[in-house]
Amino acid sequence: MATEKGQREIDDQKVALESYDVIVIRYGELFLKGANKSWFESVLAKNIKFALKGHKYDFQRARSRAYIENFENDDIDLIINKLNKVFGIHSLSIAKKIKTDIANIKVLASQISPKNGTFRVTVNRVDNNIKTRSMDIAADIGGYMLSRAVGLKVNLFNHDFELNVDIRENGYSYIFYDKINCAGGLPYSSGGKGMLLLSGGIDSPVAAYMMAKRGVKITAVHFYSFPYTGELALQKVKDLINKLNPYIPRMDLYIVPFSHVQESIDKNCPVEYAITLARRFMMRIAQIIAKKRGCGCLITGESLGQVASQTMESINVTNNVIDLPVLRPLIGLDKSEIVSIAQKIDTYEISIRPFADCCTAFLPDKPVIHPTIDKAIEYETKLNIDELTDKAISEMEIYSIYKTIFN
Ligand code: ATP
Ligand code: MG
Repeated sequence: MATEKGQREIDDQKVALESYDVIVIRYGELFLKGANKSWFESVLAKNIKFALKGHKYDFQRARSRAYIENFENDDIDLIINKLNKVFGIHSLSIAKKIKTDIANIKVLASQISPKNGTFRVTVNRVDNNIKTRSMDIAADIGGYMLSRAVGLKVNLFNHDFELNVDIRENGYSYIFYDKINCAGGLPYSSGGKGMLLLSGGIDSPVAAYMMAKRGVKITAVHFYSFPYTGELALQKVKDLINKLNPYIPRMDLYIVPFSHVQESIDKNCPVEYAITLARRFMMRIAQIIAKKRGCGCLITGESLGQVASQTMESINVTNNVIDLPVLRPLIGLDKSEIVSIAQKIDTYEISIRPFADCCTAFLPDKPVIHPTIDKAIEYETKLNIDELTDKAISEMEIYSIYKTIFN
């Protein structure tokens, strides 16, 4: 007959063979979505698979969560890092999976547990076949862990680590310590389409991130004033698109020539209205492309009062030339708050590269702070709006990170 120690060694070997590593993916707000929940989950599943392209793994959907299994162990950091940027994922855990059997769970729990310190066991039981109360299972597992490590002590409220045992409806249990917080939000592309006005600055990439987080599928448009702004300014915008790719996969960028518009404004209109009028053209042109692409809104990185072109009146005057709604997710944020998001998503270093964008090339000393619609319309009578707009649209190019198509 096996001694107690011998029996434990047999148990240890058995559960080590019968358990394996999985990544548990928890969904965020999707539970709010009632009947549409399954559709949201399928969009998220598609996005997860896209993010993990090139890795070997199995993907399983379950109630309110998903599991990644049978991945290469060396890939785990890379996989976690990619999942961390997929909107709709609330948190992740690296867990041990084992068939639900409390005796085996106890052995596994103590195997993977630190041998010293204070801890608690928390059991979440979704499986109706297990009749024992969660608290009693937790006490049972905790008791076993104590019996195998003299350096451990239970402390329910102030502990060094928490061992979670998730007993699921699929007949398996998942044992883990940490929850890794992820990007949250809603699955990318589950919330309509938007056309982002993307400059090379700090704000508009952050605006893209924030709307993508709410599920909006994003296409970008950049107004490019060659030769006033050079190749490096354009490269900056392309680099921003690439940097955002883990959050916003496959964002297409329309590059719209804009110097002819700015030159015409410069020649024919009062200098203090140069930015206001240029912005109205940006809105008009962006709306034409947006409608062609089936976008339901425009998105900008404006923040109220940040600069002259972002006062209440300026926003009103630029809005006046379009009928699509404009979403401005940064409207109430301070610059420092925007900067900290830009740093978090790692666009900041690209945005501060010192290459001027098209507005700085024609920047007036004193831009109008309180423009009016009437004045803007009056000055625009000197411009051939249709011709300027048509030229911009007919000469635009499209940049896509998967294939570079110029049409
Ligand atoms: P950003 O940091 O995004 O450039 P900003 O603080 O420099 O913003 P503005 O230059 O006034 O502010 O631009 C306000 C918004 O107008 C930008 O957030 C962007 O959405 C849009 N925009 C400005 N310039 C361009 C451009 N060249 N191409 C496309 N969109 C632009
Ligand atoms: Mg700017």
